[in-house]
Amino acid sequence: MTVGTDWATAWVRGTIDTVSEHRAELISLDREIGDADHGENLDRGFQAVATKLDTLTPETPADVLKMVASTLISTVGGASGPLLGTAYLKAAGSIAGKTELGSADIVALLTAARDGVVLRGKAEPGDKTMIDAWTPAVEAAAAAEAAGADVPAVLSAAADAAEKGAADTEPLVARKGRASYLGERAIGHRDPGAQSSSLILREAAIAAGE
Ligand code: ADP
Ligand code: MG
Ligand code: MG
Repeated sequence: MTVGTDWATAWVRGTIDTVSEHRAELISLDREIGDADHGENLDRGFQAVATKLDTLTPETPADVLKMVASTLISTVGGASGPLLGTAYLKAAGSIAGKTELGSADIVALLTAARDGVVLRGKAEPGDKTMIDAWTPAVEAAAAAEAAGADVPAVLSAAADAAEKGAADTEPLVARKGRASYLGERAIGHRDPGAQSSSLILREAAIAAGE
């Protein structure tokens, strides 16, 4: 089984809705260890994505992801805009020209997205950032693909690992971004960017029919 442009569009539509539904929760996570704008930043970005999606006639999944990338980069002021924008841009690049994506393509896409965030933000696993959702997601997706999982199962494994990764940021001290100014006061709070990345990855699995 493969997924294509309809999957990418459904993923983005699901993301627009989940970001809007979790706006307040993401704001309150960012209030604890940042500046209380993460939900607002992402919702602004994905509402702009929603507007553009209505006029886009994508021919490939990469067309959809490229539009998300440029929209997030141009409309989200906070750190998360360029970071996630680069994730979507690199993800699009990894599947350029393809109309149908299999399990290995999905692993390549997720890996490229994660590598894009690292390229931009230089965070390592354990720094209490969105990387702590993306990296376990990539590892779980690769393991699932190696074991013969189909696309929905690969994406479910990624989303499950991202959820756990986001929860596992709670005891960490932050070493990147605004939360790093707090030192030990960041302990006990979940990283907002890891949480939003896990929401985004869950929508990828739902769009594939998990
Ligand atoms: P800002 O911090 O500019 O207000 P947001 O609140 O929208 O931006 O995003 C904050 C999130 O960005 C953090 O929770 C963290 O996950 C992520 N982040 C910040 N800096 C980095 C980095 N260098 N690498 C990866 N992720 C980062
Ligand atoms: Mg913030
Ligand atoms: Mg901010």
